[in-house]
Amino acid sequence: MSCIFCDFVSGKRKKQVNGLPFLALHETENTISFLSMNFPEKEDGHVLVIPKKHYKYVEDIPKYIHHELTDHLIKLVKAIRKTHEGCNILLNDGKSAGQTVFHSHYHIVPRDMKDGIEIEVWKNRRVSEKEFRKINKYLIKRIKSV
Ligand code: 5GP
Ligand code: ZN
Repeated sequence: MSCIFCDFVSGKRKKQVNGLPFLALHETENTISFLSMNFPEKEDGHVLVIPKKHYKYVEDIPKYIHHELTDHLIKLVKAIRKTHEGCNILLNDGKSAGQTVFHSHYHIVPRDMKDGIEIEVWKNRRVSEKEFRKINKYLIKRIKSV
């Protein structure tokens, strides 16, 4: 099974899909970060933070690597905060959620006012108290089952 992120980590692949070189931003024992190919129009880059080993979904990543990923994310957020007002941290888990590279990874998107980036663009609906309680109950049951 081929994976573009594994190929970057192993050094098998030096060039990205867009022809630019693969360059790491920061590295720890089990994690690495680099610029995504998708550059928002008005921001200076969006970063991906990945475990070096291949895990398809977020729940496949062992706890100790999650801890390392969190530390890595926080370090980058602190760096981004020096020049940006905020950032979004995202993880697309599964095809229906927009995951296209099935090597689990976090996105960090630098954010500033009026940057034109839209994250939560879905339509909301009104929920009655009855439905609200029903959804809560259903989710608690699901959570208890794992
Ligand atoms: P997903 O949609 O799976 O959450 O995100 C996939 C990410 O991988 C996107 O940000 C996309 O730009 C990035 N990506 C895909 N191929 C390459 C590549 O060759 N180089 C880099 N740097 N990023 C890539
Ligand atoms: Zn991989």
